[in-house]
Amino acid sequence: MEKTTTHIAILPSPGMGHLIPMAEFAKRLVHHHHISATIIVPTTGTPPKAQISVLESLPENIHHLFLPPVDVTGLPEGARPEILISHIMQTSLLSLGDALRSLKSKTNLVAFVFDMFGHVSTEVTKEFKLFNFLFFPMNAMALSFTFVLPKLDEETSCEYKDLPYPVRVPGSVSFHGRELMAPVQVRTDDVYKGYLSLSKKLTLLDGILVNSFEELEEETFRVLHGGVAGQTPVYPIGPLIQSDPSKGSDRDECLKWLDDQPSGSVLLVSFGSGGTLSLEQVHELAHGLELSSHRFLWIVRSPNTASNASFFTVSSQDDPLGFLPEGFLARTVNRGFILPSWGPQIKILSHESIGGFLTHCGWNSTLESVVHGVPMIAWPLYAEQHMNAKVMTEALDLALRLETDENGIHRKEGIEKAVKELMEGDEGKKITKRLKELKGAAMKALSNGGSSMESLAKFALQLKK
Ligand code: UDP
Repeated sequence: MEKTTTHIAILPSPGMGHLIPMAEFAKRLVHHHHISATIIVPTTGTPPKAQISVLESLPENIHHLFLPPVDVTGLPEGARPEILISHIMQTSLLSLGDALRSLKSKTNLVAFVFDMFGHVSTEVTKEFKLFNFLFFPMNAMALSFTFVLPKLDEETSCEYKDLPYPVRVPGSVSFHGRELMAPVQVRTDDVYKGYLSLSKKLTLLDGILVNSFEELEEETFRVLHGGVAGQTPVYPIGPLIQSDPSKGSDRDECLKWLDDQPSGSVLLVSFGSGGTLSLEQVHELAHGLELSSHRFLWIVRSPNTASNASFFTVSSQDDPLGFLPEGFLARTVNRGFILPSWGPQIKILSHESIGGFLTHCGWNSTLESVVHGVPMIAWPLYAEQHMNAKVMTEALDLALRLETDENGIHRKEGIEKAVKELMEGDEGKKITKRLKELKGAAMKALSNGGSSMESLAKFALQLKK
């Protein structure tokens, strides 16, 4: 590592959802601005293969190091991912300090970039006198909400789900309290306190990098730049999605199957890296797909009552195919393809034959759909996905909404209707047209002279000043 090159340290929290866009950010920075980077990875044991494969595929001036494993055995069984992640980040602070000290002695380390869970480390990094930047892997709407959270906290005392009025997010839509992101749902718990403390720090940061782009969330970025973010520079640098998803695997059978389907005819059904459904819901979905008569490619997980049950494990515990309704596979054999637990999502979305995406509205999945111009049906499960679903359906025209019954279940008739509407109806045509336009806008934002490229250049300039 050269002592003269501007160097930054990047701290993604555990899981793939933040590592991937942060690694893509590092690649663009290194490639376009002659900056080098070290990705510092917290661990709980031997790092998962998926993580190693992303890190080892990075260019040589992006280094990585693993922090010593954190013992999580003392946490209650089934603890929510946010609790687990906060614990890992907090417990890794000492070793993070050591890692930064060593980097500082070997490189021209000027900045530290962390995500929402990594903000606890700014106490430790003070001694190194670095620029502090938040990498915000969610969208501008969620950032705008985070800016107004301290005021909401001050002005109210009940749980937000019990608020009798909607919460207004500057530059975006309003939300019922129960739709707000998971970390703010229980005000007495540590995850809320952590997120609130992040929200209070935002105006003290040297800048915020957002994985979205001006053309997608024009109005929200306008209000963020125009006062909501105070003096803190906000840099829209997206859409950052994995640029070279792993090549060749047995599962690529699904791509061969797609090759044989008509253009734009297949609906992808996928619930992100960890989303799971109840058994009843799996059956309603299967029947809904069957009734729609459309082609589909479904990444199926074994049922579970916790909607994020596979967040850390990714693969399902049992064979998911065994939970499908009797005879379903035989009845849909000519127009359905089932992938158990995991599939090459980006490669699927980029395939000619895909014409729609039933998604859990994770922000990475949403951006992947935007980049490939695929219209969506919104089926939010956890995290900030209910907020995403609302903004995607009511403000950004990216997706059709899927209603639930009074028990929160999506019934087969509603699923059938939404799939038909997306794949053949007028509303579907409108959204498809919008997605095709956004696909072009996304590509432009990341090209020379494009909005996200310019934003990244401003960020690089701030580092070198
Ligand atoms: N993903 C994938 N194959 C799958 C399921 C998910 O490659 O079978 C990838 C997907 O392409 C995306 C990420 O996992 O990059 C999921 O991120 P997102 O933010 O959408 O949701 P999360 O998993 O964080 O809920």
